[in-house]
Amino acid sequence: MESITAKQGKIMSDIIAKPSVELMSITPNAEQVIELACRTCYLSFHRFQPPNSTEELIKKIIRKKHHSVLEHALATFRIKGGSRVFTHELVRHRLMSPSQESQRYVEYGKVRNFDAVLPPTIEQGGFKDRYIDMTTRLVEFYEEMVKAGVPKEDARYILPNGTTSEIVISANFREFRHIFEVRCNPRAHWEIRQICMMMLEVMKKEAPIVFDDFILDKETNSATLIES
Ligand SMILES: Cc1cc2nc3c(=O)[nH]c(=O)nc-3n(C[C@H](O)[C@H](O)[C@H](O)COP(=O)(O)OP(=O)(O)OC[C@H]3O[C@@H](n4cnc5c(N)ncnc54)[C@H](O)[C@@H]3O)c2cc1C
Repeated sequence: MESITAKQGKIMSDIIAKPSVELMSITPNAEQVIELACRTCYLSFHRFQPPNSTEELIKKIIRKKHHSVLEHALATFRIKGGSRVFTHELVRHRLMSPSQESQRYVEYGKVRNFDAVLPPTIEQGGFKDRYIDMTTRLVEFYEEMVKAGVPKEDARYILPNGTTSEIVISANFREFRHIFEVRCNPRAHWEIRQICMMMLEVMKKEAPIVFDDFILDKETNSATLIES
């Protein structure tokens, strides 16, 4: 994925910008919290002998679709360098809480430099230079309008879908499993898949039992859920 950076109407560079995901917070001892919450259903705390009991119980509840106990653990990510195409798809997930950079308040060229995502197929199609040129011209027009007194909330109508947008999301583990199931899937759009794959890799390290049944395919940068 590439980025276009413009400042005061001039292209500063067309460097490759990678999207980034940062885990801001996660429930401490998340998998043990899930196990203890689940054991409350059966008052079987005498069986709480981590790590073996944790793995055995969480795999069992996932298999039996007793998924509500996964809601006791939550994670929050900050995502940078994704386009508004990506964020529009992501915020459709209603059980996830988003806080997104506002184009009403954030002025490009002032609070931060403008940048946009360049999809690989546009570059492969030989359209990279024209894409950068047209995007830059739109940003120049945006800057001219804002300078002339048009409110940012209205000048933004001219900005392209590829414009990047910072976003923080919070969700419980059940919802993260759902998001990864539909968005890391090979059929999902490449950008949301790429960013969700980055979050899935983090979650696999942080909560390896809960996310164990997602099988990563490095070649296609996708993941599929195996039914156990
Ligand atoms: C490949 C792909 C293509 C897509 N194409 C389009 C498209 O062309 N047009 C379009 O508009 N959208 C499209 N979407 C978005 C899709 O329709 C969903 O809005 C989005 O994926 C959020 O999924 P969700 O509703 O399952 O999940 P969430 O909103 O994250 O909810 C999680 C789960 O909670 C439950 N739930 C949440 N809310 C309700 C409710 N009100 N009633 C009952 N159960 C609920 C459901 O089980 C749901 O799966 C696409 C998504 C994918 C993955």
